[in-house]
Amino acid sequence: MEAVVLREFGAASHLAVQSVPDPHPGPGEVLLRVRACGVCYHDVINRRGSLPRTSVPAILGHEVAGEVIEVGPDVTTWHVGDRAATLQRLSCGACPSCDAGRGSLCKRDNRFFGEELAGGYAAMMVAPIAGIGRVPDDMAWEVAATVCCTAGTAVHVVRTRGRIRRGETVLVTGASGGVGLQTVQLARLDGARVIAVTSSPLKARALYNAGAHEVVVTRDLDFAQQIRRHTGGEGVDVAIEIVGSATFAQTLKAMRPGGRVVVVGNLESGTIDLNPGLVIVKELEILGAYATTQAELETALALTHAGLLTPFVTEVLPLRDAAAAHIRLENREVAGRLVLSPDAI
Ligand SMILES: [Zn+2]
Ligand SMILES: [Zn+2]
Repeated sequence: MEAVVLREFGAASHLAVQSVPDPHPGPGEVLLRVRACGVCYHDVINRRGSLPRTSVPAILGHEVAGEVIEVGPDVTTWHVGDRAATLQRLSCGACPSCDAGRGSLCKRDNRFFGEELAGGYAAMMVAPIAGIGRVPDDMAWEVAATVCCTAGTAVHVVRTRGRIRRGETVLVTGASGGVGLQTVQLARLDGARVIAVTSSPLKARALYNAGAHEVVVTRDLDFAQQIRRHTGGEGVDVAIEIVGSATFAQTLKAMRPGGRVVVVGNLESGTIDLNPGLVIVKELEILGAYATTQAELETALALTHAGLLTPFVTEVLPLRDAAAAHIRLENREVAGRLVLSPDAI
């Protein structure tokens, strides 16, 4: 089959289409004919060599949708022709974390698509059934592919981790990416007042369209003062930190006492200087948020299918454009999601 293979870590130019052996499903697995695979900033970080569980040559991509074309020997719940979309990572379904509904903390099986598992920048992909959910018949493939990591992450961040309540004020950094736009939408849907921060004035319109009440455009990432102005000097109840280290200090300054910071992205893989005093006197809660559970994927697919969350697929590109897609993402030229499809020409 054709696949985009990352031959060595580093530049986007190391991504190239080549012919590789066809994969086959083992026990507990299905083979998907890949119809669409989202290009996520996680893939850029992975490509650079920042994720220790990936080894090259690698096939990236964890945002995959496609139809089942072969099932493993013991698989009875999935059949040829079924439509599936992947979670980012697996979980065992039986450990204390999984029993508590927190599959994204499962350590017994934490394999990630595009890292230990071959990903979806390819014509076909093997998927363990613990890592897939069912796609409605009339949902477009490129939408289905991106629901988990955008809308699914938004469900995890806004509802599960952020516990955002009606009437709360929510700050979203890195708001114009795929996760950001869906987070803005869901927070608004759930009754919050949403302030979005973006680095580009060109992206403000998309953020207002997604439901942001206010958009703060800042190239130098110095936004705490503006947030305080927008909140009558009070600060926000909840911050969804999608950028990570580059904005974290400003985000902390923008919090009201008792606020909750949900950290879901760290684009530059950097570290932060944290003044514990600020966390102490404001009694801030700093909460991590990672991946999506099968239940959250189902919720996200249902919200998207019902039209309550609008997908933001910007463009569908052929596999050979994978490197170009990475470069556009790194240059912050993309509002929403780029999707690769083996069917695109
Ligand atoms: Zn993703
Ligand atoms: Zn588990």
